[in-house]
Amino acid sequence: MMHHSPQRLSVLAVSVLVALSACSTVRQTTTSTSGTSTSNTSPSISAETTAKARTILKEAGLRMSTDATKAYSYDPPGSLNTNDKPIEFQKKRTFAFPTAGISFSNEFDGARLNDVRMVDDSTFIGVLAPENAPVNYSAWYAFKVWSAKAPAKVSAKTIRLTLTYLEARHRYVPKLSRKPSADWHSWKTIDSAAYKVHYDSAGRETTSATLRLAVNADTLWVSGHELFTSNDFEAWSANLAKLPFVKKSVLGTSSLGKPLIRLDIAEAAPNAPCVVIVSRQHPPEHTGTLALLPFVETLAGDTPLAKEFRQKFRVFVAPCMNPDGVDGGHWRHNAHGVDLNRDWNNFNQPEPRSVRDALLKMRDSLKTRFVFGVDFHTTQHDIFYTVSNPPMNTARDSAEYMRNPAYKQYNAASQERSKFVETWLERTQALFPTYQVTISDSPRTPNGATSGRWFDRELLAPSLTYEVGDETDRELIRQIGVGSAKVLMEMLLKQ
Ligand SMILES: [Zn+2]
Repeated sequence: MMHHSPQRLSVLAVSVLVALSACSTVRQTTTSTSGTSTSNTSPSISAETTAKARTILKEAGLRMSTDATKAYSYDPPGSLNTNDKPIEFQKKRTFAFPTAGISFSNEFDGARLNDVRMVDDSTFIGVLAPENAPVNYSAWYAFKVWSAKAPAKVSAKTIRLTLTYLEARHRYVPKLSRKPSADWHSWKTIDSAAYKVHYDSAGRETTSATLRLAVNADTLWVSGHELFTSNDFEAWSANLAKLPFVKKSVLGTSSLGKPLIRLDIAEAAPNAPCVVIVSRQHPPEHTGTLALLPFVETLAGDTPLAKEFRQKFRVFVAPCMNPDGVDGGHWRHNAHGVDLNRDWNNFNQPEPRSVRDALLKMRDSLKTRFVFGVDFHTTQHDIFYTVSNPPMNTARDSAEYMRNPAYKQYNAASQERSKFVETWLERTQALFPTYQVTISDSPRTPNGATSGRWFDRELLAPSLTYEVGDETDRELIRQIGVGSAKVLMEMLLKQ
């Protein structure tokens, strides 16, 4: 399976994708070695340690994949079947090693650490496994570690921890915090000298990476991205809902019964044209949230532009569509083992169904016109996935659209919708000359099973998937979130 070639916006020719999945692009590694260390100062893992890990993992009844090609960078088989699948709930526990004076724990929301083994009193192996498999390349981890022996802030014991993934490659650069909060400033990316990704002979990340960590009695949190759980979404939403024109309600419940948050920015008439914003269908995708928060805050802002916008337009926000996956530290799926962004045709899962029902109620009862739809995600590079036109590129698509009563209207307006999204991207690019806005045609799931395609098809809304890179500078993400929201308001007001 090939992956796409992103193009600069200035080219404006939209590439045809072969890849089938959003948020799953393959990292272009610049480091290609034959599995040897790329830096003298980086921690390394010896053949002896690797062998020992294999023995330990085998004794623990765990397999360590040695084949990095088993990591899916696109939809793995069965992704489009969105019926419930069994998942393995992670056992919550503290892994204590008294002889080394070191403890690890996954006992918090968002954590993922399936097992730990001690090699010697300063060398450990952490085992990470997904909620179910096959699953694509999104190997999440988050845990905390402390030393019972070392006094806090006085001295620290240095340990080496090798993260080993079953059926996946290492992906996220570790973020560290001694005092985590919902604010990304409370986290810091690990020092590059204390972090080594192991590569295979083709230059791809292998199934392991080694971290050197300074551990003392003051708990150290280690995570693939800054942690932002369903509680943080609740707190952020409740805070925003203090504004008189923001209403917070419950869309429905998740697979495990958690509330699905709905926010309405509702100053205009109930049937006013509406912008739709959704996010976090995929649990680890926090940088998408780092764009969504300032985007929504800007639409709800105290500026003349936002005030004028809110007199004419409403905004519907489902900021956390997969709270079970987020809090469970899942790699990709909900508690029913399903990729929610492949369920927008079948609607087998309660989370997309709740959003669909609310939006169709607005469309059908209030005759709401939807003027824009955006779904925030994270991938390895910043990219905006647009919905190409004409939409019908396969017989299957064609049959689907022909069945849709809105087909004629859809087809007539499709070019206009494309143009709107392109102009929005051009103008956002103009605000950030040093930032490369990359666009690509939305991956073509065979039955249009992504949110973006559903917004386009059923709501007739110009729509796109807003993908933020794993390691994009957090302040830049915020600025682009603010800037792109301003551009959207300006464009909608001029229509
Ligand atoms: Zn995603």
